[in-house]
Amino acid sequence: MKFTFVTLFENLIRPYFEDSILKRALQSGLIEIEFFNPRDFTTNKHNKVDDYQVGGGAGLLLGVQPLFDTLKKIKDTHPDAYFIFPAPAGKPFKQIDAKRLALKKNIVFVNGRYEGIDERVVETFANEVFSLGDYVLTGGELASCVFSDAISRNIEGVLGNQSSLDEESFENELLEAPSFSKPAFYEGKSVPSEFLKGNHAKIANLKIEMAKLKTKYFRPDLFARKSARR
Ligand code: SAM
Repeated sequence: MKFTFVTLFENLIRPYFEDSILKRALQSGLIEIEFFNPRDFTTNKHNKVDDYQVGGGAGLLLGVQPLFDTLKKIKDTHPDAYFIFPAPAGKPFKQIDAKRLALKKNIVFVNGRYEGIDERVVETFANEVFSLGDYVLTGGELASCVFSDAISRNIEGVLGNQSSLDEESFENELLEAPSFSKPAFYEGKSVPSEFLKGNHAKIANLKIEMAKLKTKYFRPDLFARKSARR
């Protein structure tokens, strides 16, 4: 998978890939990252990337020309480019999207700044628009890091133990059951006694029940959706 980031601020993104799991994924060639800066595509004298809004409005936008030309260049040179625009207006990004998008070859994240992006650019290039949540960030870079992280761990080989994906939150519309590290007794607290008896079938059943209770408590919306489907 190649992640192409369109951003004025490469340094907000690059360090995220310099440690831990994503660093290893880069080193082993499972993922690749590259950057395009709209400032390199400006045609004006001072390489200005922001511009006023037609018809008025508070603040500046990322200007249409530099961004349009950047994306056109990417489209012409990247046959598998799949354009994702992070934006508050987008649909909420979910685990199911992370899994689906992990099968793409090249995802291009188009990161807005200032008061956002000229709508004609979105209309022309966007394959999908995703939101990180119902709040406004200063730019798309954080959202792109989050989306590319969630996508990466669903690419085969990125996680050391692939089976850990199967038990994770949002599988079967449940949160993951509570988990406990060794030792079994700590500071006067014990793990559930069933976990100590070694009966794997019983432990598995208990985990399912605990996952249901946890989902009901923390995410009643998710639990209600699951119950409605039954
Ligand atoms: N004026 C825009 C609005 O009210 O919808 C907000 C623009 S925001 C200050 C600048 C950029 O940050 C956006 O173009 C987008 O790329 C990114 N952004 C802000 N909030 C976001 C969110 N919740 N999810 C994803 N991207 C976001």
